[in-house]
Amino acid sequence: PFDVLVVGGGPAGAAAAIYAARKGIRTGVASERFGGQVLDTMAIENFISVTETEGPKMATALEQHVREYDVDVMDLQRATQLLPAGDDGLVEIKLENGASLKSRTVVLSTGARWRQMGVPGEDQYRNKGVAYCPHCDGPLFKGKRVAVIGGGNSGVEAAIDLAGIVAHVTLIEYDAQLRADEVLQRKVRSLPNVRIVTSAQTTEVLGDGAKVNALVYRDRVGGDSHRVELEGVFVQIGLLPNTEWLKGVVALSPRGEIIVDDRGQTSVPGVFAAGDATTVPYKQIVIAMGQGATAALSAFDHLIRVPVA
Ligand code: FAD
Repeated sequence: PFDVLVVGGGPAGAAAAIYAARKGIRTGVASERFGGQVLDTMAIENFISVTETEGPKMATALEQHVREYDVDVMDLQRATQLLPAGDDGLVEIKLENGASLKSRTVVLSTGARWRQMGVPGEDQYRNKGVAYCPHCDGPLFKGKRVAVIGGGNSGVEAAIDLAGIVAHVTLIEYDAQLRADEVLQRKVRSLPNVRIVTSAQTTEVLGDGAKVNALVYRDRVGGDSHRVELEGVFVQIGLLPNTEWLKGVVALSPRGEIIVDDRGQTSVPGVFAAGDATTVPYKQIVIAMGQGATAALSAFDHLIRVPVA
């Protein structure tokens, strides 16, 4: 069995694996796709001390750094079930291929995925005007026109944030009214360069083949279509944690995030968690890595306190 088994190979999992391996304990990482969301990212400009890099380059660096250590890297492995430790003190992780892995502690770092609109042009123009993370990509649209899709808290926060950077924001909400907290709504309505459109269904993202140049929405009341000329579209209709497989075993928040304390401890003894899959606010690489380090150190702390079975 492992001493620390990390499930998920994004920034959080890579950091957890390195911190665990540096303690000289048996460490493994099982992940569906080593690198995680970083693989889908183009420019990264907010990873402190690295002025600018690209996602695939960072993913390669993550894997190289992990492989510097004696870590059992198991790629293309999807976890489907977690069984808490019984008398033998071992947590069991079942994999889709039928195999199972046992470990004295587990770090869950399965990340999250952005909910997509599912309209023509969205896939084609991802990273070419279609963006999901205002903290990451907002500055790329400095002085340009953007739309934010989604009038919940994250959409309205994004509109307020972007309004300070870009020339103009069109905030598009499917419902008849915004769903964000009243205080955020008041703030966004006070901004001169934000236009709010409600009862609007985005139907297409248009571009010139290389970059986004417009968005089309259908007025759900009148039924007619409108075209908005712009350079960017921020989709803010939900971030879904990859935790469906943990339901009923590990305590999750109403949004499906793994509930952790400030040491990364979950509701299950010996099971820790880190990164976008957890309740920790602000989903960013630098935060996920810090949390991965925390979870691994907490796992080590747990191991030195429990007697070996
Ligand atoms: P993830 O990166 O999501 O990794 C999760 C890992 O778990 C993957 O290896 C996945 O394959 C694996 N996994 C999932 N389910 C299972 C399962 N059941 N069994 C086994 N393995 C599983 N952040 C920044 O700081 N700066 C940026 O510029 C930036 N730009 C971004 C651009 C885009 C387009 C996107 C999508 C995100 C961006 N982010 C950026 C956010 C950043 O990528 C995430 O905050 C970060 O990757 C989270 O790390 P994580 O390790 O928690 O999860």
